[in-house]
Amino acid sequence: MSSAQVFYIINLLIYAGVDIIACLGLSQQFGVAGVTNFGFIIFQAAGAYTAAILSLPRQSANGGFQSYIGGWNLPFPVPWIGAAIAGGLVALPFTFLVGRRLRGDFAAVGLLITAVMANLLVTNYRPFLNGAAGLSLVPAPLQGEYNPQSQGYQWDYTVVTLVLAAAAFLLVRRVTESPYGRSLRAMRDNDLVADSLGKNLLSMRAAVLVLGGALAGLSGAILVGFINLWAPSAWGYAETIVLFAAVIIGGAGNHRGAVLGAILVPVGFEEATRYIHGPPGLVDDLQWVAIGLLIVVFLWLRPQGVLPERRRLAAPRIDITERSVVAPLVPTAQAEVVLRAAGVSRDFGSVRAVEDVSIEVRRGTLTGLIGPNGAGKSTLLAMLAGTLPVTSGQIGYLGGDVTGLPAFRRARLGLVRTFQLASEFKRLTVMENLLSAVPRNRGDSLRGALLGRRYWRGDETAAAERAWKLLEQFGLAAYADTYAGDLSGGQRRLVEIMRALMAEPRVLLLDEPLAGVHPHLAHQIGERLLGLCAEGMTILMVEHELAIMDEFCDPVIVMAEGRVLAEGTMAELRARAEVVEAYLVG
Ligand code: ADP
Ligand code: MG
Repeated sequence: MSSAQVFYIINLLIYAGVDIIACLGLSQQFGVAGVTNFGFIIFQAAGAYTAAILSLPRQSANGGFQSYIGGWNLPFPVPWIGAAIAGGLVALPFTFLVGRRLRGDFAAVGLLITAVMANLLVTNYRPFLNGAAGLSLVPAPLQGEYNPQSQGYQWDYTVVTLVLAAAAFLLVRRVTESPYGRSLRAMRDNDLVADSLGKNLLSMRAAVLVLGGALAGLSGAILVGFINLWAPSAWGYAETIVLFAAVIIGGAGNHRGAVLGAILVPVGFEEATRYIHGPPGLVDDLQWVAIGLLIVVFLWLRPQGVLPERRRLAAPRIDITERSVVAPLVPTAQAEVVLRAAGVSRDFGSVRAVEDVSIEVRRGTLTGLIGPNGAGKSTLLAMLAGTLPVTSGQIGYLGGDVTGLPAFRRARLGLVRTFQLASEFKRLTVMENLLSAVPRNRGDSLRGALLGRRYWRGDETAAAERAWKLLEQFGLAAYADTYAGDLSGGQRRLVEIMRALMAEPRVLLLDEPLAGVHPHLAHQIGERLLGLCAEGMTILMVEHELAIMDEFCDPVIVMAEGRVLAEGTMAELRARAEVVEAYLVG
């Protein structure tokens, strides 16, 4: 091999390593956590610039031909570590864009605009990072001790790059394959529901932004240390699209897919088109068109990518006979009333969905909530759980005022809801749906995930035991490894009930949980819910089927047109003309 050929191969390998590290960060954000970061490239840029100004000497050292901030001339590996930190830190403030209530499109556009503006700023404000010309003569790592031009040095650089890429792979895999990773995927599938199960969306989104930002930053440092220059043209927003193409084509949600995509798209595709000759500029432009087409074709024909996200199978069941697997509920010595709405109202624009509602739910009851469509039942439940803020009024829970408490905090206190509309995590298996709700799992935090399987395996096994027990009681054990999105409507309702029970609720809010469930099974579940109430749980249940109310619920609250109309046993309510009228007319 000629030395030109060797250099070419080294070049390819280093670019592959850089792209793999970046794609892994994006795969974690987009594929696993569902955060569409259209500004991803700015974190690579931040890392590259940080590495550059940490390793460059003062401006005057090179005759002052380029101007930039800093110039600290620090030894390797400080610039690379600094780059990873910078990438993570720069990412942190974007948490406000993705927010707790993700408007995915809003966040994506916001990040895209930020990327464009950042590029314009760096391009046009020369004193910052030398403007459009960018930084050059960036020292290679350890260039005082070794000769960066030598083949030996370059091979070593390649090895270090690929080792870091492998480390990045192990890191994101460790996070993704933990209970925390499962929570990230649950958030991706349905963030409102994850919130209602006690997941802190803001902190999870911040974590994936910082982790991805740090990986992007590191990739930028490796690149700038190799090519020794860095200019705004290297990180136009379109570069983010290339990385997205890689992740989508490789397989979003599968880190091996991200590695494959990084090799196929930024490296392979751009290399292949390099040999196509045409009018200057045209081939470059056509490359963008081709990458755009490639994304469209994949989204159309194979949206899961070449290597789809793999199904996580449940661990084989460890049969532990005759043991109570439902964790005992902590008895609370406070007031009889466990949940209370006091003068609660809710407006949607000019529509008053709930008006001045005051109700009390007593411990150990299976309280029913009925009323015609549009009466405000779901809205009331959402305000009780914290999914919707109240327009006015107070929510009391276990003797405290929780009106201002976000849903995930209420869920952690044991106030758990289900949703009227299908809300299973579609791309999680039934078992994973159940496990995702378990509170206080040691592996359900970034720190716990990083500490590794040994740290959280015990919690996970105990949770799986509880889940198997529930699956058996609800007759769904055979579906443990089925994607929840592939179940029938009735089965999904059951998954949601089981999942809520896995969250160890003290007060459970069920919004039409038995709609579409076979009457015979519905009856069994009613019995089961009564049994839970006898053990100390409290349930507030919206249900259309009056037969269910007759059999299981006492007391029953009737709502109509946003107000509470009446409360009592079903027998009492049936005797009241205005209740019958409101319910039957509505
Ligand atoms: P129910 O559950 O008793 O059928 P809802 O609480 O779903 O009733 O709805 C009560 C009223 O509030 C209805 O008039 C409905 O159209 C309105 N509503 C509910 N959610 C929204 C929303 N997100 N935006 C606007 N209007 C809403
Ligand atoms: Mg409803």
